[in-house]
Amino acid sequence: MTATHNYDVVIIGAGPAGMCAGMYAGRSMLRTVVLERGFPGGELLNTEIIEDYPGFEHILGHELAQKFADHAAKFGAEFRNGVVVERVRKLPDGTFETTTESGDVYHSPAVIITAGGTPVKLGIPGELEYAGKGVSYCAICDGAFFRRQTIAVIGGGDAATEEADFLTRYADKVYLIHRREELRSSKILQQRLFANPKIEVIWNTVVEKVEGDAQGLVNLLKLRSVTTNEASDLAVTGMFVFIGFRPNTGIIDGHVEHDDMGYLKTDENMQTSLRGLFAAGDVRSQLTRQVTTAVGDATTAAIAAEKYLKAIADGEPNEPILSSGGYTS
Ligand SMILES: Cc1cc2nc3c(=O)[nH]c(=O)nc-3n(C[C@H](O)[C@H](O)[C@H](O)COP(=O)(O)OP(=O)(O)OC[C@H]3O[C@@H](n4cnc5c(N)ncnc54)[C@H](O)[C@@H]3O)c2cc1C
Repeated sequence: MTATHNYDVVIIGAGPAGMCAGMYAGRSMLRTVVLERGFPGGELLNTEIIEDYPGFEHILGHELAQKFADHAAKFGAEFRNGVVVERVRKLPDGTFETTTESGDVYHSPAVIITAGGTPVKLGIPGELEYAGKGVSYCAICDGAFFRRQTIAVIGGGDAATEEADFLTRYADKVYLIHRREELRSSKILQQRLFANPKIEVIWNTVVEKVEGDAQGLVNLLKLRSVTTNEASDLAVTGMFVFIGFRPNTGIIDGHVEHDDMGYLKTDENMQTSLRGLFAAGDVRSQLTRQVTTAVGDATTAAIAAEKYLKAIADGEPNEPILSSGGYTS
């Protein structure tokens, strides 16, 4: 049976951003619900160790996730797990209707979307099995685990080119494996890459399989040339995949301003071009995507949402409500 629920704030996604927004909104005494398609944690649940979250020199991803969830729940945020949001749309009266896969409807005057994004996978045997055990999709997060090692970066765009260069801060040797004979990245990034003696590009080649050692850690990539069809082995202890990242914004009904990659644009208060719809974390257009930036965004979004609700309650929904003004592109 489907049900209709009313809240002050609906938060979509219980990653670091959603849980932090839940904590602040709950602490502000707003009736807050966090809708999560899986379990609370987001990408933290795919991360073995976090060692760049202030105050925690070394913490397991799932432990940090549990702490975030407990903290938000302590201040009254309700978590609904296993709830897939299918659509969020603004109604003519200015409120939002969030519909789930099972047909439940959540009404709220404000929504914070913290649905993150999804790294595009290669889809080869061993890739998921060794994720977090040598296979990574985030250089800034995991690069430091590969000090003085030999690793591979997969891709040929800006992200792959830039991150291959970045990873040589740690690794002794980085192979950039690209399926074509030229890179798609900008010339300046390519210049840096080709000038870096630690990087060797393997052209016209795809990875067909990831293999590991007895400890369950990556130690070999099975390669195939797309020009000669020749198979070969490459001994590496890590594989970083940068073939794309898709923000989870498909649930928004109607147009909301976004950048060329589909990330949501916001003003400095995390409000999107749709009044009352706030965005925080990986789903948002910004320089970098980390746990720290996700919780920073979420703090602002939750406080801005509270001010927005107060402005509506005070009967001033059409006036600029935030000191810094409204949305700017
Ligand atoms: C392998 C890896 C390692 C990383 N390591 C680090 C690190 O060491 N340090 C660091 O700072 N950062 C690290 N990051 C980055 C960091 O995890 C992200 O920046 C952070 O998790 C972003 O938080 P978020 O809440 O915006 O999004 P996410 O963590 O992506 O959370 C989004 C949540 O929304 C949910 N969701 C999406 N769509 C729907 C829907 N339709 N209905 C309901 N729920 C939905 C998802 O299930 C998910 O739980 C790493 C990322 C990866 C991929």
